Amino acid sequence: MAGVTIRQVSKHFGPVRVLDGLDLEINDGEFVVLVGPSGCGKTTLLRMIAGLESVSGGQIMIGERDVTWVAPKDRDIAMVFQSYALYPHMSASENMSFGLKLSKTPKGEIESRVAEAARMLKIEHLLERKPRELSGGQRQRVAMGRAIVRRPALYLFDEPLSNLDAQLRTSMRTEIKRMHLAEKKTVVYVTHDQIEALTLADRIVAMNRGEIQQIGSPDDLYNRPSSVFVASFIGSPSMSFLRGNLVDGGRVALEGVATPLPLPPAFSGLAAKAGTPVLLGLRPEAFAYAPEGTGFSIDVQVNVVEPCGAEVYVIGEVAGQEITARCVPGRVPPLGAAARFEIALDQIHLFDAATEWSLR
Ligand code: ATP
Repeated sequence: MAGVTIRQVSKHFGPVRVLDGLDLEINDGEFVVLVGPSGCGKTTLLRMIAGLESVSGGQIMIGERDVTWVAPKDRDIAMVFQSYALYPHMSASENMSFGLKLSKTPKGEIESRVAEAARMLKIEHLLERKPRELSGGQRQRVAMGRAIVRRPALYLFDEPLSNLDAQLRTSMRTEIKRMHLAEKKTVVYVTHDQIEALTLADRIVAMNRGEIQQIGSPDDLYNRPSSVFVASFIGSPSMSFLRGNLVDGGRVALEGVATPLPLPPAFSGLAAKAGTPVLLGLRPEAFAYAPEGTGFSIDVQVNVVEPCGAEVYVIGEVAGQEITARCVPGRVPPLGAAARFEIALDQIHLFDAATEWSLR
């Protein structure tokens, strides 16, 4: 068992409070991604789980063991860094076996573990090369190999793909997912890339300014974001927001839109909040270009058209507020004019404009 329990963990650097009484439960075998903008505290949290940073308060358990004050080498973890942190004078194979040699693992056992990891990562032909003779992606594979051979109870990844080009990042992402499916070990993975979070995670922990804003599956965070922060951070292109007022329990009067938007049944129970200023959240796919549409529609001033292969994004304005709508190639409104877009009412999100928390 190697779940992780973070209990009331705080961290301050002098007067700077980075984390304040944070709670988080990670299950055995789970792939959890900590995601959030730069400076939100995700690396600090990961480094505290690793033992590379001390806690200012609270407790960290790995499995049944309280490791709050246990040295990193005794935590049964392996960490993969953004910088790879390989020894430059050692070959790939020596880099991978170094930790096992230190822990006096028998030679035959070391050789078979390195061979197995090399096979898994498809780097068998690179084992005798020094890091300088390897590409960035190959170095990252060696760094992962070094973690795998240790057979730790827990893997910690700190933005491992940030230094790779876009294509390599995508293929390494698949490798990491494949490794998790094969090994079923607990993984805590830090990134500021929401696509990595959506594709890799069993559960995503969305952090902002040292606080957890939402914990849930990728589907939860994408389709049921708890706040404007999560809604804007997850999904690309980002969700668009339109200002409005809750007229009664069932309708929203949008700024610059004549007809009030009828709320679907999922939003029942808002009658007591009539008059509340709200933000209506719409993902690009909630818009459909429909010049003759019969459903609830709004007029969008089309400012930019961005073709992206299988889809085309239209960036426009509704009463001075920018929106992004998804269209299909060949069915795109003309640039510079107003176009009618139908809104998929079952895909809308509603947030309290003052607190920015979801009203669902
Ligand atoms: P990034 O994606 O940029 O790495 P992050 O979410 O991982 O960001 P952290 O590295 O955890 O953020 O940093 C959180 C906050 O703690 C930041 O404001 C940072 O400046 C501060 N911080 C981190 N380490 C130290 C330190 N050793 N001394 C002082 N402040 C620190």
